[in-house]
Amino acid sequence: MVGLFSKPGVEDKLNILSEDGQYDLACACATSQSGHRKRGSDGKWIYPVTLPNGGQSILFKTLMSNVCSNDCKYCPLRANQDVRRCSLSIEETANTFLDYLNNGDVFGLFLSSGVIGTPDRTMEKLCGVAEVLRYQHKFKGYIHLKIIPGSSDAAVQRAVSLATAVSVNIEVPGAENLRKLSDSKDFENDIIRPMKLINQLNLEKRFGHSVKQTTQFIVGAAGESDKDIVRYTAALYDRLRLNRVYYSAYQKGLGERNLPGEQGGDILAGTGFVREHRLYQVDFLLRKYGFKAEDINYGADGLLTLEKDPKQIWADLHPEFFPVNVNAADKDGLLKVPGIGPGAAIKILKTRKDFGITDLRSVLGCGKLAEKALKYVVY
Ligand code: SF4
Repeated sequence: MVGLFSKPGVEDKLNILSEDGQYDLACACATSQSGHRKRGSDGKWIYPVTLPNGGQSILFKTLMSNVCSNDCKYCPLRANQDVRRCSLSIEETANTFLDYLNNGDVFGLFLSSGVIGTPDRTMEKLCGVAEVLRYQHKFKGYIHLKIIPGSSDAAVQRAVSLATAVSVNIEVPGAENLRKLSDSKDFENDIIRPMKLINQLNLEKRFGHSVKQTTQFIVGAAGESDKDIVRYTAALYDRLRLNRVYYSAYQKGLGERNLPGEQGGDILAGTGFVREHRLYQVDFLLRKYGFKAEDINYGADGLLTLEKDPKQIWADLHPEFFPVNVNAADKDGLLKVPGIGPGAAIKILKTRKDFGITDLRSVLGCGKLAEKALKYVVY
């Protein structure tokens, strides 16, 4: 318990900062609704995570500061809000991480921050921790650094030279949507420019390695459509070669009231997390199932249907594609079948090399997914 006028210690600060940093998901999360909000039992700053390359790890994750000079309307930490502010120093952050690391409690670090004065001043602190770990302590493991929107090219380059993964939060699809949420952030210059630079540095392998790049959408604050989010997501994967895109449902009451998205009904109706889940399903279809953005179907309002999964909707709308011959279809064809995922498709391809398949259940077992797929296949 921190006294009214006492200075908070490192653990008190971590409590405050990890609480405030919990919606910043752009390093690691599962696709289940609750999976990416998991916390370790030892402290809210220790996270079991799925990394952008698909591996699993346990990260020490914190904001370095919840001081912020920015004005994002969906964020409770924006300037002039009455929240308890605190910051960790470079030494406090590095030493605490090293304590956990040496104890075997964590394997990597995720660092983010509110904007302390200017983006570059903030990057100075984030990169400062990474430099202490890399150069003084020879730490070769996972470091994810948040790139603060509006950071200079030099600050982005420094972060890329130090990190394993970096992320700039895109927040919303396009400049028009961002203007509804912030008067100070410029979509092209503050967000897209650093993303492009990171991609360029990766292509050049400027620092002898490439970093994973991820980003995050806040879903439902700006009144944006899912169609726009999916269009941007596809472009981020195809043109800027992002490793992962994450989606975080805006939670009513966390930021300013009456944001554009709150008029739309999804937040008021409490369906924001289902919407987030549907976006993750579409994201999987784009990354793992060979779907294109134009294959995804929406309602007249540009939103995904909440009641049914997007792959099932595609199958219902394309009866001409079925039945699929499991002994002849290529991988993309198999992946269009409801109930067949990437693992099952590989199993089918391997099995049919040696034997003709006469019953899908002999390959996939008798579970629900195989039962679902049976309606759509022939042999
Ligand atoms: S930059 Fe925006 S989202 Fe990040 S802490 Fe500041 S106000 Fe919140």
